[in-house]
Amino acid sequence: MTLFCHKCSEIVDETNTNETPEYPCAHTGCGGEVTATPDERIVKIKMTSADDALYHHYQGQTDRQSVCLILDLENGVLCADWDAAIGSSTTHRAYHRVDLEWRIPPLRMESLRKLMQSLRDECQQILDDSETDWDGHNHVGRLGDTAEGIYTDIDYRLESATWEPGDIWEPWDAGDYYDPIRGQELRETGLSVDSTPEDIRDAAEREAAMADVALDVDDVEAYLAQCVADAKEEQDEEITVPLRDAIETTLGITTKCVCTEAWEQVQHEWRNGNNIILAKEGDDDWWVDVIYDNSPEGALSHLNKEYHKEYEKDWPANNPGYICVMVTIDGKAVQLTGKPIIDDVVSIGIESGF
Ligand SMILES: [Zn+2]
Repeated sequence: MTLFCHKCSEIVDETNTNETPEYPCAHTGCGGEVTATPDERIVKIKMTSADDALYHHYQGQTDRQSVCLILDLENGVLCADWDAAIGSSTTHRAYHRVDLEWRIPPLRMESLRKLMQSLRDECQQILDDSETDWDGHNHVGRLGDTAEGIYTDIDYRLESATWEPGDIWEPWDAGDYYDPIRGQELRETGLSVDSTPEDIRDAAEREAAMADVALDVDDVEAYLAQCVADAKEEQDEEITVPLRDAIETTLGITTKCVCTEAWEQVQHEWRNGNNIILAKEGDDDWWVDVIYDNSPEGALSHLNKEYHKEYEKDWPANNPGYICVMVTIDGKAVQLTGKPIIDDVVSIGIESGF
């Protein structure tokens, strides 16, 4: 059953809120008499139960859903809700004016309560000068001149109303929210590169519930999912590091860089499918070119793009200063086998996942 305060006109739905009804009314120190909700057409204010109750942003939509203040002409209930339909739409009840609607922002509870209280008397005047009846096809609302005038006046006032930032539930952008801990997001939210989409969703919900500012769960979820994806990519890039270390250890050299964009220059006799080619120039000036190729056509793709002027010189083929090391990629394992070009013999074995 619903209970009603005769002083502040708020209704409490026991079945929905599990609240123990207060006698007298406890709303902001109201102290009014509470009884079962009367049937008469008097204004009954139905409050939201959370500050973010009117804010809803569907994933993938540019804007949040619109919000309306709604006066039910049949029973006098004044409530607020977000519009579940995407795009502009009118409910059947609003179309037939059984519900009168005014567009408002997603107000926090206290601001909404203030607004509804301030409109209570005018809404009562609308109820007093209106009726609903059956026109043979639909229930329709009919407004007298006074009711119509008040409806239009409220509409105009709400449209031109200025709101304080604290009145409105406006979530922070997840990127701004996490800016102070950029790079630490996964650790701070208990996620890792192995987190599943469900883990990410759970973390987003936890974060939004714990934050001391307004956060949109979907926005946080998308942001954290991107953090996980970035971390995965970084980890994949790091695979070149053990490769480099192995090369350096085996060859006893310091590698200088990882790749080049001048890859057409490696279209020479040493190129095979599924190769990584490493090259050395001179005795004290090393660099390593890592080229990854596992496509059926044998097209090369680069793990790292760093252009080196050195490649504009003649490619190693007949240059006695170079060593090339062929790497065969077999599934996920990388095996590096030495191939003597001149007189160096190199052999490196690496277990690594690409
Ligand atoms: Zn009250």
